[in-house]
Amino acid sequence: MTDEQITTIGRCHLCKRTFSFTPASVMTVRMDPDTNLPLGMTVSGAFREPTPEATARSVEQHICSDCVSRMKRLSAFLDQPALRFDTWHGGR
Ligand SMILES: [Zn+2]
Repeated sequence: MTDEQITTIGRCHLCKRTFSFTPASVMTVRMDPDTNLPLGMTVSGAFREPTPEATARSVEQHICSDCVSRMKRLSAFLDQPALRFDTWHGGR
């Protein structure tokens, strides 16, 4: 009996680094081959609703854990509601 996980060698689509991963747990991202950016991400780094055309042509790519955490940081950052500086009228 073995609980060894079979690892596969692949290439990260974002940083082009070769990395090993377990197919069951690897992170994939849908890339838009036209822009070479993750689906829905714009060149400026902002997210927007992908067009149906972009969704149709997108391909799933493997992403290494480094890039996953980078993207998580980015999306956590983007998910933050913008800091609001409400005008404070001194409580009155
Ligand atoms: Zn990577």
